[in-house]
Amino acid sequence: MAQFDVKITLPNQVFHGTQMKAIPGIRQKPINKAYCRANKDFGSGFYTTIDLYQATRWARKSIDDVIAFNRKMGQPLISNISEGELPAVAVLNCEPDGNNLDIPVHDFRAESKEWADFILKHRFDSSNVSCNCSLHPDIVCGVMADNNTGDIIAKFRKENRQIDNPADLKWFWERITLSQEGRRLIGLELGDQIAFLNEDLNEMLTVKGYYKYNLSKRIDVVTPQNYTEEWDYYEN
Ligand SMILES: [Zn+2]
Repeated sequence: MAQFDVKITLPNQVFHGTQMKAIPGIRQKPINKAYCRANKDFGSGFYTTIDLYQATRWARKSIDDVIAFNRKMGQPLISNISEGELPAVAVLNCEPDGNNLDIPVHDFRAESKEWADFILKHRFDSSNVSCNCSLHPDIVCGVMADNNTGDIIAKFRKENRQIDNPADLKWFWERITLSQEGRRLIGLELGDQIAFLNEDLNEMLTVKGYYKYNLSKRIDVVTPQNYTEEWDYYEN
C-alpha cells in the first residue's frame, strides 16, 4: 500500500451550524465531550465546515421543522420560536500555530470506500469513549454523508447487516451517497466537514463571531446566491 508523507494546513476559519442557545458554551469550550453525541459520521466530536452555505442550511433545519409544524396547525408561521431556538452559525478562528501537539489527522478525499467504511463503523457504534476503528484520529476531514444516514443505519441494523461484511458495506456506501431525490451525489456535492475529536485541540479554536438567523428576513427558496440575506453577523 502506498504511504503518503503529508503536510496538512487547516483552514484559518471554520463554521459550525447550531442554535443561539449553544453559542455561549461554544465560546467557552468548542470541543466539549459532555455535549458530543454518539454515533456520528467521524466519531464523537465538534463538527465544522469551510462552507458557510452548508452551515446555514444545517442550522436552519430546526426552524424549518417548527415552521412546517405551524403551517400544518394553521398557526402564524414564526410563532413559538424563542431567541435561544433561533438558528446560529458560530465562526471560529482555527490557529494550530503555537500548539506543540502531535495531531493525528485523517483526510478523506471524496466518497471513497474507505470513507464509507469509516462512517459505517462510527455511525454503527461509537461514543466519546469507544469506537470500532483501528486508528482513531484527532481530526477527520472529508465529505459529508447524506442527511438520511440515521434511517439508513436503522435499516442496516433491522436487516441484521454486518459492519465487516463487504457486501453490507457496499449496500451502505451506495445509500449514503444518494440525495433525498435519489440522485447520486459526487465529491463536493456531498458537502464538506472537519471534525475535531479531541478536547486538547480546543486551544486552536476561538469563536470570533456568529451569524444569527433573522426571522423577519426569511426567504422561502434559499440558494447559494441569496442565503446570506437571512442572516445578521455579530463580531465578538
Ligand atoms: Zn474511531
